[in-house]
Amino acid sequence: MSEASKRRAIVIGAGIGGLSAALALRQRGWQVAVYERAAGLRESGAGIVLAANAMKALDLLGVGGHVRAVGAPVEQAEIRTWDGRLITSLPAAEQAAKYGTHSYVMHRADLQSILLRAVAAETPVYTGMRWVTGEQKGGRVTAVFEDGTREDAELLIGADGVHSAVREKLFGESPLRYSGYSAYRGVCTLDEERMEAMAGGGFEALGPGLRFGFSRLGSGRVFWFAAINAPQGRLLPAPERKQALLRLFNGWYGPVVDALVATDASEILAHDIADRAPLTRWSAGSMTLLGDAAHPMLPNLGQGGAQAIEDAVALARCLEQDGAVPSALLAYERERMARTSRIVRMSRSMGRMIQLESKPLMWLRNRMLAAVPPSAYIRRFDPIVGYVVPR
Ligand SMILES: Cc1cc2nc3c(=O)[nH]c(=O)nc-3n(C[C@H](O)[C@H](O)[C@H](O)COP(=O)(O)OP(=O)(O)OC[C@H]3O[C@@H](n4cnc5c(N)ncnc54)[C@H](O)[C@@H]3O)c2cc1C
Repeated sequence: MSEASKRRAIVIGAGIGGLSAALALRQRGWQVAVYERAAGLRESGAGIVLAANAMKALDLLGVGGHVRAVGAPVEQAEIRTWDGRLITSLPAAEQAAKYGTHSYVMHRADLQSILLRAVAAETPVYTGMRWVTGEQKGGRVTAVFEDGTREDAELLIGADGVHSAVREKLFGESPLRYSGYSAYRGVCTLDEERMEAMAGGGFEALGPGLRFGFSRLGSGRVFWFAAINAPQGRLLPAPERKQALLRLFNGWYGPVVDALVATDASEILAHDIADRAPLTRWSAGSMTLLGDAAHPMLPNLGQGGAQAIEDAVALARCLEQDGAVPSALLAYERERMARTSRIVRMSRSMGRMIQLESKPLMWLRNRMLAAVPPSAYIRRFDPIVGYVVPR
């Protein structure tokens, strides 16, 4: 098919969702252009877990092999008390055997460069382009950017993240729901001897209203996050962040303190964690939403990125099955809404359980977690991580 005769789509946002959408549409013969408001494409210094369902969707996009080559397979996932006592080991090996793939953890910059390399081979990615509005007429949509540029296409995908301007344009304001906790994230390198002892491993340590996650990224690198119960908008100021975290996690399980000590203070990221009540529509005419723009979720199940990648695969298929963009977009949102809304709800309830402050309730929770047999754990999460998005 010549470039001129291809159907044309505009993607707003070059995050995981936008780049995945560009890849998926390209596979189906669309001509795509991606517009990103940031001046450059530089992912934050943090890691991401790609669960089995994300890996299956990445395989469909043709990049799963690259992710496996660079990422670290999650062979061990433990839950510990704040001082390091093992509560339970999650059945990561059994899940990998059942699904035919491990989950992988990797640096976000590595994932971005894999996606970007695959996209940019055939698709322009324009940076420094902030989308401000879209005008729809006669089955076409015109994207208008801050610098006055206007671009015309048959389809516009808002993959512009949790504060999506495309969502606001289509459906008006809808407030974010603060989770009750903020998250701090960092990447560091720990000495090889210690890493040997923890090969293939990761853990979450749970304290009162505090949680620390630790994952190996390979080559001695570690990604960590800390989730801390706090009022909204009260993030630890950047210059004091590292020392404040060291005080909060003083006396915790050794690797927690080691990871904090080994992290460059200026590289610690901080965010208030929020989601949004599920929307009832994602699409209007020739415009739709994808990823966090459509369904921001709390990160407790590590599924936000995974759902964005699944969205991309499903959207491209719906557009191929139904040549008319508006009805294809309705089919896409019908297919994806029930699944993503369920994960939004589950991520919320998981957060309530793991950020408990009451010591008696924590004791009870830990007893319950320890009593869950691997088979019940696998059954509970199978609908999420065992899902293979149809191509
Ligand atoms: C602490 C934390 C841990 C997480 N851990 C995991 C995990 O382990 N596994 C997992 O699967 N998910 C995880 N997630 C969720 C995951 O990071 C997100 O769901 C995912 O990054 C969403 O991708 P996206 O492309 O939809 O949005 P984003 O990554 O937010 O990308 C949106 C892009 O759009 C651009 N943009 C915004 N507005 C405009 C505009 N007007 N014009 C042009 N461009 C614009 C932005 O600059 C950005 O580049 C985590 C999230 C958090 C906060």
